[in-house]
Amino acid sequence: MLITVITLFPSAFPGILAYSIPGKQLGKLWDLKTINIRDYSDNKWQRVDDTPYGGGAGMVIKPNIIHDALTSALNNYPGKPPAITYMTPRGQLFNNVVARKLAKNDGLIILCGRYEGIDQRVIDYWKIHHNMEEISIGDYVLFGGEVASMVVIESVLRFVPNMMHNHTSPENESFEVRDINGTQVDLLEYPQYTKPAIWHDYSVPSVLLSGNHLEIAKWQIEQSTQITKTVRPDLWNSYNCKKRYEQ
Ligand code: SAM
Repeated sequence: MLITVITLFPSAFPGILAYSIPGKQLGKLWDLKTINIRDYSDNKWQRVDDTPYGGGAGMVIKPNIIHDALTSALNNYPGKPPAITYMTPRGQLFNNVVARKLAKNDGLIILCGRYEGIDQRVIDYWKIHHNMEEISIGDYVLFGGEVASMVVIESVLRFVPNMMHNHTSPENESFEVRDINGTQVDLLEYPQYTKPAIWHDYSVPSVLLSGNHLEIAKWQIEQSTQITKTVRPDLWNSYNCKKRYEQ
């Protein structure tokens, strides 16, 4: 998979993506390119933004500059068109379903905004002509799209075939826990423990030391259920809805 990040801060990459599994597979199972938005500036001062129409604080990145940067990024993909995403708090909420979908592509372009964001016209144009999708990583506002893009990249890479080879599976984690029948359910993961069996008077739950795999599986799904009910009632309701639907 070739990922191209369009950003005002290309030196921020690969950043954390150079570490651990993504870092080991960089240049093998995936590649990363960056495009500096400033290289597409239309003036000698290399400015990329201007004041917003209608007034208000902050600056808006100009449409022609982003259009040229996106067009240039497309040149990295002479074959099949890549998926294109714009990181924005106004986008659809990112989750494992979106990550899995993006991981099916051989190419991915991620556009990072800054300041007040990007002129709406270039967003509309690329949505209509190139299926660009707007993605938010959560209901809060960051200074820029770079950290958000790294969240998306890490999450997508987990679903790229062979990425997790010899490491933990991308499945049986929160949002994709396996129940006792092996069915994948979108619950939070059960708690994990390792040695020593007793630490600061806290013992590992005895069932995990029993060696009884069925009892362990029952305990884990029960824990997942309780934690999800308490912490994420929204997720619990959708899990229940799905179960009802399937029955
Ligand atoms: N004016 C915008 C708004 O209110 O929706 C916020 C702009 S934000 C300060 C600057 C850039 O940070 C955005 O263009 C986007 O690329 C990125 N960003 C901020 N929060 C984000 C989030 N929750 N998810 C994805 N990208 C985000």
